[in-house]
Amino acid sequence: MPVDVSQIPIPVLEVCTGLVDAGFRAWIVGGCIRDLLMGRPVSDWDLATSALPEEVQRTFRRTFPTGIEHGTVTVLHRGERYEVTTLRGDGEYSDGRRPDAVQLGVSIEEDLSRRDFTVNAIAFDPLTSDVVDPWAGLADLEARLIRAVGDPAERFGEDGLRVLRAARFAATLGFELHPDTRAAIPGSLGTFAKVTPERVHEEWRKAFEKSAEPSRALAIMRDTGILQITCPAFTSIDEAAWRATLARVDRTPPEHELRMTATLIDLGAPWEGADVWLRERMRASNHERKRVVHLLEHVRVPASESLDDPALRRWLAKVEARWVYDVLLLARAGGADVDALEARVRAELDAGTPLSTGELAVNGKDVMRALDIPPSRKVGEVLGRLLERVHEDPTLATREALLAALPAAYRDVTEGTA
Ligand code: ATP
Ligand code: MG
Repeated sequence: MPVDVSQIPIPVLEVCTGLVDAGFRAWIVGGCIRDLLMGRPVSDWDLATSALPEEVQRTFRRTFPTGIEHGTVTVLHRGERYEVTTLRGDGEYSDGRRPDAVQLGVSIEEDLSRRDFTVNAIAFDPLTSDVVDPWAGLADLEARLIRAVGDPAERFGEDGLRVLRAARFAATLGFELHPDTRAAIPGSLGTFAKVTPERVHEEWRKAFEKSAEPSRALAIMRDTGILQITCPAFTSIDEAAWRATLARVDRTPPEHELRMTATLIDLGAPWEGADVWLRERMRASNHERKRVVHLLEHVRVPASESLDDPALRRWLAKVEARWVYDVLLLARAGGADVDALEARVRAELDAGTPLSTGELAVNGKDVMRALDIPPSRKVGEVLGRLLERVHEDPTLATREALLAALPAAYRDVTEGTA
């Protein structure tokens, strides 16, 4: 499998040439060579060099010391960023997360041997066209195998995240795990349990965003016990529900938050623990947490036949227009027939019926002025009552009709009648 140099962007070659002209060696390494050989789009180009970080900094005009303690300098060249990392060995791992000290100035072969999987441990020198492949990653690429570099149990013991990365790459690349690599996972879960939530979340994100079949990652995670460490709620999910989950996730578009939701749907109706889990075990952003929790709450959509038009509008008001298509999409991915409901939702949104009190043609000031009442909770309640009336009969949404309905709405509120 030759590397097609014409597929390497000129600026990447220029960074390599810059290093070589300064008297160093340079290789393209890791995921980008793997993706290049597979004909997949390359997201970022990582370079390895014999130059020390300060030598990299001296070689290029614009650099940032992004990870200088690990030997990584970011080079800004023609508007793009390239991570240039000094050849390094990792030394001892005592905490199952990161090496105690990194050792710079090793050979390219040694640099490759600290990497996680054979298909990620191939280097290419674009100026000589030499492929460096001490772990037979090319053969595993051909055989579509994820295989740990060296002894899997030892490598998983160094950095617990690698077991999850194995599952993630199986999904993003559509590969199988080598049996020895897979067999080493259960014994490494204690180390995996020490990995920070942020790193776990990042692998989930890549699995969801970059896979045609994210279920491959989830199935490996559950079969090996990785999933139950991250989310103990999956320990008790029944097999039929789990199979439904896997199918649903694969039918959901490759957006992290949507596939995250699809994964959690069968944990409850909705799963009460989602909010805390997303915050504490995943360190999800507030936006992600809110969206996923909201979608989980509404994804069991009512049957179109069970909703008359006012009930449809009330449902839509609860779901919110910005989430409703996500909810429909997830329901459909779960096998529900939502065509009729979706057509009605579309028509309703096109008609522009107000869904919240803020969209009404009258506001709190209008209410206070027309009824001659001071600011109080009642003002909001009157608006709420008006919204209910509009949901019953959208022709009442004009300003005139709303103002005319104010006294009756106020009476409803003060008398507490329905
Ligand atoms: P992707 O394209 O999905 O980002 P990638 O292979 O580039 O895949 P990265 O996480 O960006 O994955 O890592 C870049 C390279 O660094 C990997 O290909 C691998 O060689 C090495 N690497 C990354 N994380 C680890 C790890 N935890 N242990 C060992 N090597 C790793
Ligand atoms: Mg990468």
